[in-house]
Amino acid sequence: MRLRASDLSMAIDRQPIVSDVDITVGPGEVVGLVGPNGSGKSTLLRGVYRVLRPEAGHVEIDGHDVWTLSAKSAARRVAALVQEPAGDFDFDVREIVRMGRSPYLSVLRPASATDERIVTDALARVGAAPLAGRRFRTLSGGEKQRVLLARALAQQPDLLVLDEPTNHLDVRHQLETLDLMRRLGIATLTALHDLNLAAAYCDRLYVLTAGRVVASGPPEDVLSPDLVGTVFGVGAVPSVH
Ligand code: ADP
Ligand code: MG
Ligand code: MG
Repeated sequence: MRLRASDLSMAIDRQPIVSDVDITVGPGEVVGLVGPNGSGKSTLLRGVYRVLRPEAGHVEIDGHDVWTLSAKSAARRVAALVQEPAGDFDFDVREIVRMGRSPYLSVLRPASATDERIVTDALARVGAAPLAGRRFRTLSGGEKQRVLLARALAQQPDLLVLDEPTNHLDVRHQLETLDLMRRLGIATLTALHDLNLAAAYCDRLYVLTAGRVVASGPPEDVLSPDLVGTVFGVGAVPSVH
């Protein structure tokens, strides 16, 4: 699997939000997207997981433009965990994870035994098998995050796109979520707020400022105190790795 986003520009209500961005993710790589609030991380990711059509540029996975694929083929290429998931929908955990299969289903083909096995496997992979019988809205934040990750895995995607997967989690659950992300062994593009966590868990980083990539590379090369101070507008900062 190789993701290549090239010359990607995104706009909202004709307002440019992301400008001329190039990003790659290679096989098995975990690539982080960091930058200040409002720098365009979520908007960029929406262009990758097909929620907001780019103004210009391309998003290709293994040479296939994700924006020209059918919904079904795209679901096999890329699955996302969004920043503010609707937290309270009143479904069973299994029903939520089964939604990851829905791009492949139709009136003519309801969930099969294979789909059910994939749902069971996805829950097991994120360590959420014991939650299978629960109502989703009764779960803790960390548990919900696991189940939503299982829903993404049920798509059997080549690429995972995560938008601040540690949001609202306490430090233990932040670490558990990121450990899990690494253990899955799936190519991943993830927005992260915390620079220490980004440095610890990502193979490479892209730093976004006002919709443009201003630095990229291995965390230890990218997150110099100077760059962090400039990008986040905070002057001198303590070392982040
Ligand atoms: P990040 O994820 O880095 O915090 P976002 O991609 O969410 O940044 O937002 C980038 C910019 O786009 C911000 O200035 C934000 O106000 C603006 N923006 C996001 N969504 C909308 C919207 N629906 N309408 C207008 N502007 C928006
Ligand atoms: Mg370019
Ligand atoms: Mg965001």
